[in-house]
Amino acid sequence: MSHQDKEQGQRETKRLYFEDAYQKEFEATVVDKFRFDGKPAVVLDQTCFYPESGGQPSDRGFLGEAAVVQVLEDGERIVHLLEKDIDADKVRGSIDWPRRFDHMQQHSGQHILSQSFFELLRGETLSFHLGEAISTLEIGIRAISDSDVSRVEERANEVVFEDREIKTYFIPEEKVSSIPLRRPPKKEGLIRVVEVSGFDYSACGGTHCRRTGEIGLTKVIKWEKIRGNLRFEFLCGRRAIEDYAWKNRALVEMAARFSANEKNIPAAMEKTVSELKQARKKMRQLQEKLAGYEAEEIIKKSKERIITAAWTDKTPEEGKLLALNIIKAGEFAVLYGIEGEERNHLVFASSETLPLDMRELLPLVFSHVQGKGGGSSSLVEIVIDKDKDLKELLKLAFESINQKLKY
Ligand SMILES: [Zn+2]
Repeated sequence: MSHQDKEQGQRETKRLYFEDAYQKEFEATVVDKFRFDGKPAVVLDQTCFYPESGGQPSDRGFLGEAAVVQVLEDGERIVHLLEKDIDADKVRGSIDWPRRFDHMQQHSGQHILSQSFFELLRGETLSFHLGEAISTLEIGIRAISDSDVSRVEERANEVVFEDREIKTYFIPEEKVSSIPLRRPPKKEGLIRVVEVSGFDYSACGGTHCRRTGEIGLTKVIKWEKIRGNLRFEFLCGRRAIEDYAWKNRALVEMAARFSANEKNIPAAMEKTVSELKQARKKMRQLQEKLAGYEAEEIIKKSKERIITAAWTDKTPEEGKLLALNIIKAGEFAVLYGIEGEERNHLVFASSETLPLDMRELLPLVFSHVQGKGGGSSSLVEIVIDKDKDLKELLKLAFESINQKLKY
């Protein structure tokens, strides 16, 4: 590379997207090549590729045959990171237009939402992030009502429906006070103003739609507290339509399940949840009754004071209930294993009149298998890994307390 070429390589890259955010293809001269992060990196004299900045992710696309995987700002230069090397000095570039247009919808929608928050609630925009699926806006307000969110959303969509022009122009820094900018500019020198005609004025270097109508539906999805402010998730354009589509499908399915109108789903769900609670309560009462009868049966058949069993058809809760009923009905120690789908359970219980502390079995169990548990002297519950045979563990526990009961 000659001295002259080197100087050229340090010069700023002409940003074609400033003049026309809708230009999808371009021709350019390679002015610098190097490696960055182990990838081939190329600087051109001009580009349509938007570099990651201001909350907006970079464009993707192709330079010749090489895929552009990332675009970064290096001062006034724009660096394209490629998937493979390119040889030519002149190159044809094309950007991934659906991706870019999606970013333009989200970014332009953000300007309008930001100004709507400011106009209606004096909420200032503190940060913006355009994500792969969701965009977020941090607004300097402490709390918000559902109705205020609706007002902001309505205002934003009103501006969208009015199909206002979105203009971009440069003004010198010293004239910046002549424009009612929503936030003071972060850059010096020439300031690029993005104006949503008569509604919002922002200093911004991003790519935007020509008219607000192109942004499409603008929807706040949810919000949460962050650093004493609120962070809103929002979707614009195609993203909002896709979101609407799956949510609508889910609602229609739910309505069919509940045999209810879509609008009555919350009431139908509430009714179902309350019925479920009632049913659980009833079931619990029946389980307790059943455990009482089952305990009687087991005691009748048992010839020993130590009762052991490995259950495959009981929940840990049922096993515990049964063990408690047995130790209440007479002087017994109960060692139960319950096989679960992912983990096994142990329930060790003993009547308080027996000279036993079931907690003493914990170290014995943990010396054979990984798990956790605890309890009182008369009841211990343990959850363990499935790699140890339950019957073997129960046998070890049996031998241990059998010894103690002998003395
Ligand atoms: Zn912008």
